[in-house]
Parts: sequence; C-alpha cells; structure tokens
Amino acid sequence: MEKRNLTCIRCPIGCQIEVEMDNGQVLSVKGNSCPRGEQYARKEVTNPTRIVTSTVRVSGSRSGAITVSCKTAEDVPKDKMFEVMQAISELQVSAPVHIGDVLLENAAGTGVNIIATREVD
Ligand code: SF4
Repeated sequence: MEKRNLTCIRCPIGCQIEVEMDNGQVLSVKGNSCPRGEQYARKEVTNPTRIVTSTVRVSGSRSGAITVSCKTAEDVPKDKMFEVMQAISELQVSAPVHIGDVLLENAAGTGVNIIATREVD
C-alpha cells in the first residue's frame, strides 16, 4: 500500500489530504473538508491536469503592448505542461487581440487551444 500527501488547491484553505492507494487504485481519502477535496485528490493521483497560464508575444499593437496574457482553454495533462509552455514561447500573434481569441490550436498535441485573456489593440 502507498500513501500520498497532497495539499488541496481547490480553495485558499489548502486542506492537507492523505490518499491511500494500492496498485493504482484509491482506497481512501482523508483530511478533506468538503467533496471538492476528495474529487481533487482522486484526480491528482490518477490523472493530474492543470490550466497553464502564460504570455504570448504580440506585434503591431497601437498601445505599445508587446505581450498578451493567455491560458489553456481547458486543463492539460501535467506531464504535457512543459511542451505546452514551449509551444507558447514560440508563438507570436498580431494585434488586435480580443479576449477569448484562439492564439494556438491543439497546443503540443493535447487537443487544447491557447486563448487570449486580455485585449490588445
Ligand atoms: S477540501 Fe474543500 S475546503 Fe479543503 S481546500 Fe479543498 S476545496 Fe477547500
């Protein structure tokens, strides 16, 4: 049997959660103060994913902005985060950019798009 200790990141309380596992199966989850913590812990030990946030270079902005903030439209597998960051770092877009614009489709083969989270005129 294996024990994993996690800090829940679903809210600022940050409950300390202990997960007992056997052969990749979750046997028990303890320490969470609400169901969201159990949901987080089960996913984190079996299929960890994250939203990636970053910035993309912008050219031709009238306001002089040189970057625009962005994020993945959905969670991506944690082990793909570096490749997604790499793909974002190689990207350059032209102004104007609107919130929700797709800046990159299928980032690093994850099937997840990169979208703008700021306006750049
Ligand atoms: S278990 Fe619930 S209360 Fe505790 S940190 Fe997670 S979301 Fe917050």
